[in-house]
Order: sequence, then C-alpha cells, then structure tokens
Amino acid sequence: PTVSGMEIEEKPAVSYDTIGGLEDQIMEVKETVELPLKKPELFKQIGIEPPKGVLLYGPPGTGKTLLAKAVANETNATFIKIVASEFVKKYIGEGARLVREVFELAKEKAPSIIFIDEIDAVAAKRLKSSTSGDREVQRTLMQLLAELDGFESRGDIGIVAATNRPDILDPALLRPGRFDRFIEVPIPNEEGRKEILKIHTSKMSLSEEADIDLLSNLTEGVSGADLKAICTEAGMFAIREERNQVTVADFMDAVDKIMGVEHDEEYKKE
Ligand code: ATP
Repeated sequence: PTVSGMEIEEKPAVSYDTIGGLEDQIMEVKETVELPLKKPELFKQIGIEPPKGVLLYGPPGTGKTLLAKAVANETNATFIKIVASEFVKKYIGEGARLVREVFELAKEKAPSIIFIDEIDAVAAKRLKSSTSGDREVQRTLMQLLAELDGFESRGDIGIVAATNRPDILDPALLRPGRFDRFIEVPIPNEEGRKEILKIHTSKMSLSEEADIDLLSNLTEGVSGADLKAICTEAGMFAIREERNQVTVADFMDAVDKIMGVEHDEEYKKE
C-alpha cells in the first residue's frame, strides 16, 4: 500500500560507524532491538520474551533515526518509517486504519523495523477537552496499543519509537510489553562532537589548518544535524569562492551562520 507519511527502505545504507558519540546508545539498541531479530532462539531458550518496543528520546537531530536505520541495516531488515502526526492529519477514522496497515506491511516485509517518529503526536496524556480531533488521536492510540498487544514478538519485527517530549506521553504506552525500554539520545558532548565532525568531514577536501578540536570547542550545545549542516555550509563557502579546499575560515563562517552567533572575535582572541 502507498500510505502517505510512510517511508520504506530495504536495508538502509546506514551503519553504526556513521553515528558519532552514541556508543552506549548503540550498545543498548543492539541488545534490545537487534539481538531479538538476530537470535530469537536465545530468548526462547532462556524462556523470556524479548523487549517489544523501544523508545528513543531526546532533542531533534541527535541521531534517533540513524540508530533505527542502522539496526535495520545490521539485520537486513526493511525500514518502515511513519511520522505519527501524519496519522491524524487525514480523515476521521483514517489514523487507526493507517496504524493497521503499517503493521500488516511490516509482517509482509519481515524482517522489518517499524520506526514511529514523533510518537507524542498520538500518545500524549489524555486531555480534558474532547474535540473531534482529540477523539481521533485517541482512537489512533487505541489502535496502536492493540497492535502492540496483539503482536507476538516472534523476533522478526522490531518497533522503535522516537520523541522529543517523553514527559507528555500517556503512561499506557509505556507499560511492560509495550514501549518498556527507554534510551536517551542526548545532545553530543565535546568528544561526541569531535566524532560527528570527523564523520561528516571524512570525505571533504580540507586545507591543512582545518581543525576538528577547535571546531568542536566552538560548537557547544549543537546537535549532530547542526554539525552536519555546518560542514555542508563550510563546503558551500569554498565552492562559492571557487576554492578546492575548505579552510578554517569557512568553518568559522559556517558556525556563525548555523549557530547565529559571532564566534570570530572569540577565535581571534585566543
Ligand atoms: P528528529 O527528532 O528531528 O527526527 P533525529 O534524532 O531522528 O531527529 P536524525 O534524523 O537521526 O535525527 O539526524 C539527522 C541528520 O543529522 C542525520 O542524517 C546525520 O547526518 C546527522 N546526525 C545527527 N546525529 C548524528 C550523530 N550522532 N552522528 C552523525 N551524524 C548525525
């Protein structure tokens, strides 16, 4: 089926080594999502059910989608991404049907990873008001819970959800047997920023002075997605001036542009 807001990718080309600064998160994802897909017999033999759903939470652009794609790559699974806000944008009754279709498709295409982005859009704590829009969200959530509950973890489908707002989620979603594993995906620290910058500059033509340590120093509080944007923007400055190498100055200009702050002066003082 061609469902709007759904994105399907057979074995996405994202490996764990293109993810910077998330070693602990990668380990957890391997254990909770990858292992049940790769070795369901381990869980059977010990006599426990593998975790059904995993919730990744943290600010935008920190690598949640990358993590889910890397699991799909590692397990040769079909990656099925849906943005939860799309579920409830359509007609009344459509949300629940879309949820059903996504799970059907995942079974058809197994092994597969269902990645539900912005899950808070259908799973926020119950509101007091009750507009028809709220009721539609409610029905969609009910269907999602029903799919999760009815779904045997046979080990060939992994479910990963992502949110920036774990605080507003309906506790019903977080009960055991549903999304009962939480993995925080934070903004990178300095070491993480270095790793991410190394990944995104690895194919760039850099002048000798271009300095990853300095750059990671100047980009405190910035996400992986922003770091990638800084690298692209630095490359654009070089292209505009018809140079074949990217310089420190290009990166400084890119930092200013993306972070919207004057870092130049600080840099000159040092
Ligand atoms: P959102 O909550 O907005 O959906 P997200 O956490 O899913 O964000 P991604 O889509 O994984 O973020 O990241 C967007 C892009 O930013 C990635 O395709 C990648 O290029 C870059 N990026 C983000 N985090 C990292 C990281 N830890 N390592 C390397 N690149 C990263």
